[in-house]
Amino acid sequence: MPAEERREIWESLGVIEDWLRGGARRERAIPDFSVAVLAEDGETRSGDSLETIAREVENCRACRLCERRMRAVPGQGPPLPLAMVVGEGPGAEEDAQGLPFVGPAGRLLDKMLASIGLSRDSNCFIANVVKCRPPNNRDPAPDERAACIGYLRRQIALLRPKAILCVGRIAAGALLGADEGVGRLRGTWRDFEGTPLLVTYHPSALLRDEAYKRPAWEDLKAFRERVLPPS
Ligand code: URA
Ligand code: SF4
Repeated sequence: MPAEERREIWESLGVIEDWLRGGARRERAIPDFSVAVLAEDGETRSGDSLETIAREVENCRACRLCERRMRAVPGQGPPLPLAMVVGEGPGAEEDAQGLPFVGPAGRLLDKMLASIGLSRDSNCFIANVVKCRPPNNRDPAPDERAACIGYLRRQIALLRPKAILCVGRIAAGALLGADEGVGRLRGTWRDFEGTPLLVTYHPSALLRDEAYKRPAWEDLKAFRERVLPPS
C-alpha cells in the first residue's frame, strides 16, 4: 500500500479514536510511513497487550513483594481511556481482590473522579507503580519500584491517555524522576514522555487531613479542563 494511502487511513483512524475517547481532537505526530509496517495480527507492532501485561504481573516474581501477596493488582479500566490515574501500590483490600483502589482511599478516589466525569467503568484506567502489596503498607523500596516500573510504562504506552493524574509522592517520583513532595510538584502541568501529567495529593492524605481537599479540588478541575471536551 502506498505511503500516502497509509497516511490517509491513519488520519481517519485518529478521527475515530478521538470520537471513541469522547470527542476531543488530539494532536498527533505523523509517523514516517516510508518505514512503518503494521503487524498482520492486529496487535500493536510490539505485540504487547493489556492482557499480556496482566498475565505477566500475576505470575511475576521479580521482587520480594511477590512473597506475601495474595493477589497481584495489574490495574483496571477501559482499553481506550481518556485519562489514567497512577497510585502507589495495593493495600489490604486491593491485595485481597486483585483490583486497584477498592479500599477507603479507593472509594474517595472514585468520588473525586466522578466529580470531573471520569470513571474506571468507562473512560479512566487506574494503575499503580508497584503491582503487589508492600507489607504493612510501607513505601515500596527503590529496588521494588525499579523491578515493577516496566509494567506501568508498557501500560501507558498501550493506553495512550490524554493525560495522567499521579496521586501522591511515590507515583509522581516514579514517572517524573523527581524526589520532591506533592506540595512542590502539584499545580503545574508536567510531561511524561509526551503525555501531559498532573500531580495531586493521594486520597489517603485527604482522608487524614481535610486541609488537602481544597488544593486537590483545584487540581481535579485543571485535570478536567485538559482531558474532557467542553460540553
Ligand atoms: N493506594 C494506592 O496507592 N493504590 C491502591 O491501589 C490503593 C491504595
Ligand atoms: Fe513483580 Fe511488581 Fe509484584 Fe514485584 S511488585 S513481584 S516486580 S509485579
